[in-house]
Amino acid sequence: MTTIIDIHTHTLPIHPESAIWNCTPSTLSLLPQTQYASFGLHPWSLSASTLSSEIESMEQLLTDNRFIAIGEAGLDKLCDTPWELQMQAFRLQAELADRLNLPLIIHAVKAHNEIMQLKMQLKARNTWIIHGFRGKPELANQYLQAGFYLSFGERYNVQSLLAVSSSRLLFETDDSQHSILDIYQQAAPILSLSAHELLTQTMQNIDKVFFNR
Ligand SMILES: [Zn+2]
Repeated sequence: MTTIIDIHTHTLPIHPESAIWNCTPSTLSLLPQTQYASFGLHPWSLSASTLSSEIESMEQLLTDNRFIAIGEAGLDKLCDTPWELQMQAFRLQAELADRLNLPLIIHAVKAHNEIMQLKMQLKARNTWIIHGFRGKPELANQYLQAGFYLSFGERYNVQSLLAVSSSRLLFETDDSQHSILDIYQQAAPILSLSAHELLTQTMQNIDKVFFNR
């Protein structure tokens, strides 16, 4: 059974075995020897001139088995990065994740249809996870029907949390000041579970998604 209970954090965890640290080209040198991590190019910080070399070195880097996911990668209609560049970077990372059979951790802002379409176009067989999901229940249902997992953090629509089937549910701290245990303690009563029950259920999902690929 996995020891991971937090699938996405930007803070280096005190207990390396408890979380997947979000690693980027600029924080790569800080990655501890025993830390699980995801690695990706965020839509906020892309450069057209370095994209292809970064994707190439990413493929090399991901042979290191500390990396158990690609991300966060994604699409964000509210940021300044040119849309074409975002699409290109996201598509390349999605293709790589599928080819390497790694889960993809996705940053999605006002680009939900595009993300669902791309998953279908690519006929992706790997797991796609929308991180920090704050959408409405209708959107949650669309994602679930398209085969996605949804990860919840500190803030979300309670009805959406209730709409997600227990087998597709994940939790994260992202950049929250709260601990991951706070996140479970907040969500558990909404789902009529004890924090321990929710933790156990989520760890089964984490096992399946990240370790039984
Ligand atoms: Zn994040």
